[in-house]
Amino acid sequence: RELPGDPRTDIIPREVLHSCYTKVSPSVQVDNPQLVAWSDSVAELFNLDPEEFERPDFPQIFSGALPLVGAMPYAQCYGGHQFGMWAGQLGDGRAVTLGEVLNSRSQRWELQLKGAGRTPYSRFADGLAVLRSSIREFLCSEAMHSLGIPTTRALCLVTTGKYVSRDMFYDGNPKDEPGAIVCRVAQSFLRFGSYQIHASRGKDDLGLVRSLADYAIRHHFAHLENMTKSDSLSFSTGEGDDSVVDLTSNKYAAWAVEVAELTASLVAKWQGVGFTHGVLNTDNMSILGLTIDYGPFGFLDAFDPSYTPNTTDLPGRRYCFANQPDIGLWNIAQFTTTLSAANLINNKEANYAMERYGTKFMDEYQAIMTKKLGLPKYNKQLIGELLKNMAVDKVDYTNFFRLLSNIKADPTIPEGELLIPLKAVLLDIGNERKDAWTSWVKSYIQELSASGVSDEERKMSMDSINPKYILRNYLCQSAIDAAEQGDFEEVRRLLKVMARPYDEQPGMEKYARLPPAWAYRPGVCMLSCSS
Ligand code: AMP
Ligand code: MG
Ligand code: MG
Repeated sequence: RELPGDPRTDIIPREVLHSCYTKVSPSVQVDNPQLVAWSDSVAELFNLDPEEFERPDFPQIFSGALPLVGAMPYAQCYGGHQFGMWAGQLGDGRAVTLGEVLNSRSQRWELQLKGAGRTPYSRFADGLAVLRSSIREFLCSEAMHSLGIPTTRALCLVTTGKYVSRDMFYDGNPKDEPGAIVCRVAQSFLRFGSYQIHASRGKDDLGLVRSLADYAIRHHFAHLENMTKSDSLSFSTGEGDDSVVDLTSNKYAAWAVEVAELTASLVAKWQGVGFTHGVLNTDNMSILGLTIDYGPFGFLDAFDPSYTPNTTDLPGRRYCFANQPDIGLWNIAQFTTTLSAANLINNKEANYAMERYGTKFMDEYQAIMTKKLGLPKYNKQLIGELLKNMAVDKVDYTNFFRLLSNIKADPTIPEGELLIPLKAVLLDIGNERKDAWTSWVKSYIQELSASGVSDEERKMSMDSINPKYILRNYLCQSAIDAAEQGDFEEVRRLLKVMARPYDEQPGMEKYARLPPAWAYRPGVCMLSCSS
């Protein structure tokens, strides 16, 4: 068995066998690091006094240049399927976990610096992160949280004062970009790939899959331990009595089902809000069902089911918006295969977890879409017709749903006036398309008026699920352009606006505008993984 090396020097990229992590300290070079932005609500999670952000040594500590007292830094070993292919060991190549903080409610929060230098998992790369991508990760983590979507959080963002070379630019020439570090926060950063890597290494390491599963269950799914029959978690698969899956008899099976359901619920929420992750590799799938690893993500502007924000995902579009539900299932299948390989669950239990993914996804997705439209009950045809129309006319996903709540459930409105509430999002459509939309709105109003819910009540409910403000890629880009010139105000303003996505915010309407023409240039709406 390999012994861990000296934690200060043991950063040579290599296969790290028979272990889940390596002790490694942040090793990033800094030159007058600056605090770009911070999140008071994340500080609150673990009782960090907001005044600490003002400490003169704060940027030093959160760039990793000064040690955090009491920290026990390490990098995790994990593997993963990248674009459907097993990629072997990946691991925290540039993320260093400082340790965990126990808050006043006995919750554990892990703090992790992303971009803190090389680790044994860095492979060929530099262990660093640039300001551009760090702003995107910082802002989107917090925006997602405020949208009500499970996610890793971000405590703060600091610049390193050093430059990093990146080659994402279309002329093929590398460019020096300012370096930065985000402090990510989550109850756990364990991913599907954290389990896959050990199973992939054969029978010697199957015990590690079990230990790590025990760890996750003990700390994050404690309700699954010591379940009794009276918890009645027994379900029939509908294939006769011998097919009953009794989840109380195997905590790993109960866990697999719960991970599947958390994942299904997460993906349903992404679909509801038009979020495309962009890199749904199994190493980017959290066992807690959190959105994790913000790289080339994008929110839909014009509705396009085949939208992928990731240039590396072309032309296959494996990770495009419409594929996310299927990819979630594919990833769950890899996870259950891993648990099966370690003899923690049997085939029937694995199949059952996948089945539950499907059921949970459909239930949640239908509930979300029903609420987005303000319908009394799910209506497949009406919703399907709407999405088809939106795709044909490239209608802005966010603004359409936000405006939809202004429609009155009054069947006596003359045909010629039906589209008035939607005119800001139905731009430049010809007469033939106008007819298609008029007919849709007519059926919609019919459905609404049968429900008996008042217009005001429906609007309130719809506006609580259809955000007015989302972190469009072009908004991020404006904040990045300013920050690269040393002006951090726009990052801070966006953080504030995105903290209340469902509220009308007088004076902030420009943040709800459709993307300008320049937003469609590469590097704004399409990004590479290079970050
Ligand atoms: P991602 O595609 O962002 O999920 O990253 C895949 C793998 O590459 C993970 O193991 C990352 O830690 C690693 N990685 C990405 N960027 C860097 C970098 N600049 N330096 C070292 N490792 C990296
Ligand atoms: Mg990743
Ligand atoms: Mg990444």
